[in-house]
Amino acid sequence: MPVAEMRETRRRILQGVCSLCVCVYLGAVIGRSAARVAETEVEREPSWQDRAPMSVDYGEETEQSLETETRPSPRFAYLVEAGATTTPPPELVEKTGLEDVFISVKTSGQFHESRLKPLLDTWVPHVQQQTWFFTDVDDAELHQKTDGHVINTNCSSSHRRDALCCKMAVEYDTFMDSGKKWFCHFDDDNYVNTARLAELLSGYSPQEDWYLGKNSIRTPLQIMDRAHNGDRVSFWFGTGGAGFCISRALALKMSPFASGGRFMRVGDKIRLPDDVTMGYIIEHLLKTRLTVIDEFHSHLEQMKFIRPTELDKQISFSYSQYADEMNVVDLDILSEEKDPTRFYSLHCLLHPKKAFCPR
Ligand code: UDP
Ligand code: MN
Repeated sequence: MPVAEMRETRRRILQGVCSLCVCVYLGAVIGRSAARVAETEVEREPSWQDRAPMSVDYGEETEQSLETETRPSPRFAYLVEAGATTTPPPELVEKTGLEDVFISVKTSGQFHESRLKPLLDTWVPHVQQQTWFFTDVDDAELHQKTDGHVINTNCSSSHRRDALCCKMAVEYDTFMDSGKKWFCHFDDDNYVNTARLAELLSGYSPQEDWYLGKNSIRTPLQIMDRAHNGDRVSFWFGTGGAGFCISRALALKMSPFASGGRFMRVGDKIRLPDDVTMGYIIEHLLKTRLTVIDEFHSHLEQMKFIRPTELDKQISFSYSQYADEMNVVDLDILSEEKDPTRFYSLHCLLHPKKAFCPR
């Protein structure tokens, strides 16, 4: 073979090998990105970060392991395995009248009109005297509608974790001053079945330490405790969006960590939102376990999965909207146009004689 032809053949072989390498490399890269896209599209359990938008600063050192479940199991079976407390049989420990309960509703100026109206039209009048709204602006109209039960916390009106902790700190202090036996917190997108709430609390003594709520993650939250040599600590917390209740006895023990604004300092130290800070103080610092109350619901759950026949037994509900889809309870008493949150329909289910309910 002449030298020129040999060179040409060698050049072609080299070119071929190079293009093959490029193809293999590109294939691998595209494949991996596709797999990554597929991974992100796979539905995962809502995580605790989902409770708040991306604007919330969780701190880089926080980590949380989300295990995927391979087989169906009863809800919260994993909690029993992990040692968390589940709801004990509701024995009547002490008759808790609703007058013994301090109910705080966290809100913000931007939601006074949109979110508070369905609450004020439905469940709030049943517990008007003991319910307080914690907000971030002065609002004469809301003041008038709630008979003065509005507290301007002067906290910033944002969804940042420090603003949320600031409001929770005021909620806690106001409860302590109220002298009530139970502190129950709810968000402004919660419907509360007040009769069931009273029944639940009757099963527990406010003189004992109780932290009643609903977890939103499947495993305890793990964080590096910067206050203690970066030790790894893990604890459960009741997600704020489902509501939670704390007995006075426990609230008193929280005082060294929570009163007079100290709650905010703990939140700043661990750099986590209000409900997580609550879990850290109660579970980690005070070693009181979260008692899981299945009947509390946040919008991290699919509301439509609550069976219509079980709706009246639930204690709290919520709603949310993702793009065009509403996450609401499956209940068709009033039209979606009239009742997009379904809170009026829920109220009609529980109190059919209300004026806005169909006859
Ligand atoms: N919130 C607030 N300031 C804000 C946004 C929200 O105080 O700028 C309150 C809101 O009123 C609600 C709670 O924080 O009681 C949770 O907010 P939201 O339901 O909007 O978000 P989620 O955390 O449930 O996803
Ligand atoms: Mn919410």
